Amino acid sequence: MANYCPLCNSTHISAYFSNKDAEYLSCSQCDLVFTPETFHLSDVDEKSRYDSHQNNPKDLGYRAFLSQVLNPVLDYIQPNSKGLDFGSGPGPTLSVMFEEQGYKVDLFDKFYANDQVVFDRKYDFITATEVVEHLAKPGDELNSLYSMLNTNGVLAVMTKMIHNEIDFKSWYYKDDPTHICFFSQTTMKYLARIWGSNIKFYGNDVVLFFK
Ligand SMILES: [Zn+2]
Repeated sequence: MANYCPLCNSTHISAYFSNKDAEYLSCSQCDLVFTPETFHLSDVDEKSRYDSHQNNPKDLGYRAFLSQVLNPVLDYIQPNSKGLDFGSGPGPTLSVMFEEQGYKVDLFDKFYANDQVVFDRKYDFITATEVVEHLAKPGDELNSLYSMLNTNGVLAVMTKMIHNEIDFKSWYYKDDPTHICFFSQTTMKYLARIWGSNIKFYGNDVVLFFK
């Protein structure tokens, strides 16, 4: 059993749920639910799962899904703002949608756009859609992203957040073996508190942090 939380490093963790496929732990400091490393896929197996996701910019349903992040961010950025799409995946689409609105967007993806130079740059907006649930070290990675924001920058995260009406036992989202950490609104508020940032939620799945 892991002995500390991968988001906040607290040792105040306890068993949350288990089934034949995995164990899930929860952290009482930041409210993250996560699977210990022993249940994480190898990089090869993880990538083969993503290779089978056929998202692309021509998919109107996927565009509508990503509009949940695009539209809130557009409300807060200025012309000429520069963005990063972190976890852009095998068929980058959100970056294309921002580019159609006149913005420049860099891509980073562990498997499909592994360009470490982005971590030396600063951005006015950073998006992380359907990616934080895959992170083995969400604390390190999110702290790094937040540090890459310019003053007045915005970090937008989309992930299915755990809330009171979710029955974890039957929750499909946990059954994807590449999903290894699950955030709640409390977890997001914890991050906002340690960063000293303002935070705004859009429905159950989208949150913006303002630097
Ligand atoms: Zn924690």
